[in-house]
Amino acid sequence: MGKINIAIDGVSSSGKSTMAKDLAKIIGYIYIDSGAMYRAVTLYCLRNGIVKDDKTIDEEKLKAQLSNIDIIFKLNVETGRPDTYLNRQNVEGEIRGMEVSALVSPVSAIGFLRKEMVKQQQAMSLNKGVVMDGRDIGTVVFPDAELKIFVTASPEIRAKRRVDELRMRGNKETTYEEVLENIKYRDHHDQNRKESPLRKAEDAIVLDNSTINIEQQLQWAVDMYHKTIEKNNGKNRDR
Ligand code: C5P
Repeated sequence: MGKINIAIDGVSSSGKSTMAKDLAKIIGYIYIDSGAMYRAVTLYCLRNGIVKDDKTIDEEKLKAQLSNIDIIFKLNVETGRPDTYLNRQNVEGEIRGMEVSALVSPVSAIGFLRKEMVKQQQAMSLNKGVVMDGRDIGTVVFPDAELKIFVTASPEIRAKRRVDELRMRGNKETTYEEVLENIKYRDHHDQNRKESPLRKAEDAIVLDNSTINIEQQLQWAVDMYHKTIEKNNGKNRDR
C-alpha cells in the first residue's frame, strides 16, 4: 500500500498536534511538528541576543546565524512522541513556555526563515509517510498532500485546553486570561501576516473540534486516512 503525506493545519492550540501525533503513531507514519521548529528558532533568538529591547527581531543577525541553528526530532521512548532538539540539546519543555509563545509569531513571519524551514520540512518528507502539522502545510509545504485537514475551535475552548496542559507540566503561574490573549493575538498575527498567512487550503477538510474529545477527533482522522488510502488505491487501479 503506497504511503501518503498528511497535512494538518489550523489555529493555535486547536489540538492539531495531539491529533497529528496520535494519528502518526497508529498508522506507523513519522510525525513532524513544524511549529516546534519555529519555536526552537525563537528560543535560539532569545538565547543569542537576537531579540532587541523593544521585542522585535534583529533580522540581519538572525540571517547571519541561520546556518548555526540545527533542529532535529528524536523519539522519546517514555512518551512515545518526538522531542525537539536545538543544537543537540533537548528543548521540548522550554519551547512550550510563555516566553517563546509570546515571540514565536513575529519570528515565524520572517520570509527568509520560512523559506529555510519549508526547505527542511520538504526534505524530511520526500519518501512520504509523514504527518506534519502547522499553519502552511497544506498550502505551501505539501500543496500536493493526499489528505489535508484544517482544525479549528473557539478561542475560549482552546485557552482552557492550553491552561490545563500548562498545569499538567507544573506551570501554576500563567493565567487563563494571559493564555486567551496570547491565542487571540497569535490568531490575528498568523492570519494577517504577509508571508504564508494561515488559511485553509481549498481541498482541505475542516474539523471543528469544539464539542468533541481527543479520542473522537482521533477516530475521525483515522477514518479520513483510510478513506483517502482507499480512494488512492482506486485511482491507481483505474489507471
Ligand atoms: O503550532 P504551534 O502553536 O506550536 O506553532 C507556534 C507558532 O509558529 C504559531 O503561532 C505560528 O506563528 C508559527 N507557525 C507557522 N507555520 C507553521 C507552524 C507554526 O508560522 N507551519
